[in-house]
Amino acid sequence: MFESLSNNLQAVFQRLRGRGRLTEADVDEAMREIRRALLAADVNVKVVRDFVDRVRVRAVGQDVLKSLTPGQQVVKIVYEELTELMGGSQARIRMASKPPTVVMLVGLQGAGKTTTAAKLALSFRQQSHRPLLVAADVYRPAAIEQLRVLGSQIDVPVFSLEGGSALDIARASLADASRRGADVVIVDTAGRLHIDEALMGELEAMKEILAPHEILLVVDAMTGQDAVHVAEAFHQRLEVTGVILTKLDGDARGGAALTVRAATGCPIKFVGMGEKIEPLEPFYPERMASRILG
Ligand code: GDP
Repeated sequence: MFESLSNNLQAVFQRLRGRGRLTEADVDEAMREIRRALLAADVNVKVVRDFVDRVRVRAVGQDVLKSLTPGQQVVKIVYEELTELMGGSQARIRMASKPPTVVMLVGLQGAGKTTTAAKLALSFRQQSHRPLLVAADVYRPAAIEQLRVLGSQIDVPVFSLEGGSALDIARASLADASRRGADVVIVDTAGRLHIDEALMGELEAMKEILAPHEILLVVDAMTGQDAVHVAEAFHQRLEVTGVILTKLDGDARGGAALTVRAATGCPIKFVGMGEKIEPLEPFYPERMASRILG
């Protein structure tokens, strides 16, 4: 994960450290290299520009140049700014004051929604909640079956309605949750290959019925800036409350992880790190920044 960004940034810092006192020209050169490293990691151009400007202002403005360990101070500034770029601190799930908490998962087909729904349900179950999974991808019967199988593996009930529309399922799922005493309802919605009006219209109607506490957008980190565009489009229509970045285990560059928050204002709440159904990993900006800086 992020190997080349990590290596490139470490090389920049190595050079700074070797230099002792820094001049403004040294800082400028380091900023150019950081800029190049972030662009190579597929971070959005504007996000890179703003980031480098912030780091530069702090690096030349805070007595860094007069300090005896300027290299280390620049590392610290980059660490803090990377953390901030990814949202600052961990963004948690918003729980209902009166259960059930309703979580709607949305996203394009293949992003990892169904897998993520099961992982999220497992996380809740391990925290002594009583989750209910709702299979509402009526256009892909295989997805409903897939969720049933996953649900039985992790011992979480799965609700669906044979022959019902997504809206019927949404309505009936809340009644089912109350019958079972479920305190968290996780709704796996339909995805399509591309964002289209029919998909968005249906999701809006489901949002109306479910009044969800969270609308989590599942995006594939490996698609880089495409993931960011998808996030912008979904957020515009649905006011997404958080992003789940899947397939981070296979994302060598890191562009989506570093751009989504700045481009959309939506926090990344969880990450998917594999195909196996394990509890979903919360996204910790500080840890991710440490990991990048090595
Ligand atoms: P959906 O169409 O959005 O419901 O996507 P699925 O849940 O069916 O996932 C599509 C594919 O991505 C499947 O092969 C999953 O095993 C795989 N997948 C999902 N999440 C992850 C992840 O975090 N890492 C990896 N490597 N694969 C994932």
